[in-house]
Amino acid sequence: MFHRIRRRAADPSEAQRRFFEQSARLQAPESPEAERVWAELERREQVAVVDDFLPPELRVPNREQLGGMMMPWTQPLVLDGEMVACSECGSYRDWLILSTRDQVWLRCRAGHQQLETRLDTAWYNRNSGPTVSTHATFEDCLRHHGH
Ligand SMILES: [Zn+2]
Repeated sequence: MFHRIRRRAADPSEAQRRFFEQSARLQAPESPEAERVWAELERREQVAVVDDFLPPELRVPNREQLGGMMMPWTQPLVLDGEMVACSECGSYRDWLILSTRDQVWLRCRAGHQQLETRLDTAWYNRNSGPTVSTHATFEDCLRHHGH
């Protein structure tokens, strides 16, 4: 019994000793060549991590990440058999259709915006193509669409 207890007590310290020996071996600089290889491996890992990310202009956020979306709509927009006209200037074509927070807004060439309650995000998604570009600001996006 006494013998077993002593052995059990000795075992952890033996394992500890081996662990410290191995750690010391790992921590000790082995040779300039080994250091060079490690540095090379680390460099490659860093490059690989960078390669995982597309350049910002190629990253397309999903629709939930966007504050809103817009698409040009040059032809007249007919809803419920009625042609939609700008309530301020009366223009009825060359819209930008904006979709944000489950609301759809129409923006005329003159920059008037009106909420279009007959349209919703589902309608917008059915009628818009894939996202081709993203813009940091609303103004950038307007400029992109020539407004
Ligand atoms: Zn207008």
